[in-house]
Amino acid sequence: MIFGALEAGGTKMVCALGKEDGTILEQISIPTKTPEETIPFIIDYFKDKEIVSLGVGSFGPVDVNKDSDMYGHILDTPKTAWKYYDLLGNLEKELNVPIGLDTDVNGSCLGEITFGSSKGLDNVVYITIGTGVGVGAAVNGQLLHGMLHPEAGHILLRQHPQDSFAGNCPYHGTCLEGLAAGPAIEKRWGKKAVELKDVDKVWEIEAYYIAQALVNYILTLAPRRIILGGGVMHQKQLFPLIRKEVKELMNGYINTKEIKDLDQYIVPASLNDDQGIMGCIQLAKLALQG
Ligand code: ADP
Ligand code: ZN
Repeated sequence: MIFGALEAGGTKMVCALGKEDGTILEQISIPTKTPEETIPFIIDYFKDKEIVSLGVGSFGPVDVNKDSDMYGHILDTPKTAWKYYDLLGNLEKELNVPIGLDTDVNGSCLGEITFGSSKGLDNVVYITIGTGVGVGAAVNGQLLHGMLHPEAGHILLRQHPQDSFAGNCPYHGTCLEGLAAGPAIEKRWGKKAVELKDVDKVWEIEAYYIAQALVNYILTLAPRRIILGGGVMHQKQLFPLIRKEVKELMNGYINTKEIKDLDQYIVPASLNDDQGIMGCIQLAKLALQG
């Protein structure tokens, strides 16, 4: 059986074919333009591939509530061409296979708990820090939804005493995304994040924000592990800085075995940046099971 996987991101769309065990057979990537330009290309790609089902991990906000009239539609997004676009409906109409849909970050979380180093863990938080900040979560083995899906990249934080950056989230200024996503780093320091590798202050401040967010997620969701992915987290020096800051902020309040071993608790994504697309393969498998 061949499963289709679509990681529908705000900047690029990744289409892939995969096997039951998560193996990616082939994959292509195209830039995300308007739906009219982008969707026909995706349909063409999958149409003659004999996929049994498709899994879609979409940028948000997207309606993931199966009982909703707007299920499968992109919601109120600054990407105006996609506002209220019926992503699921348009794919279903042309492909005639079961389609599983979730957010891109829930997809990545699913990839990690199905195929990655967090395989089998039932409560996991996955955070991506890239162009934006996205958070996915599995709770009791299920990807977390409610009235919407988590939007925990926009949680409000205490600002670092040495950071006067106004933040660049158009809604909240200094939320996590406004302070710590790749574009925020670039705007604060006037250089791309990757060019700031050797400037210690950059990563001290970055870790300060990420750690605050992690403490909030730990206290709220009691995850068994926290996984950090996305372009910014390629700066591996962040991991020890984040762990140290989490320990300080937690201040001994929680003493589980997980919290006592932060090296195993706060970890990088484990699937070579394929966690998202592999999660979509799993979404396709689950869609087939109904
Ligand atoms: P997206 O979030 O669009 O899916 P990425 O996760 O690659 O894509 O995130 C892109 C952002 O991450 C950009 O702001 C870029 O500056 C930053 N970034 C990408 N690679 C690195 C790196 N090696 N080190 C630091 N920042 C990076
Ligand atoms: Zn925000």
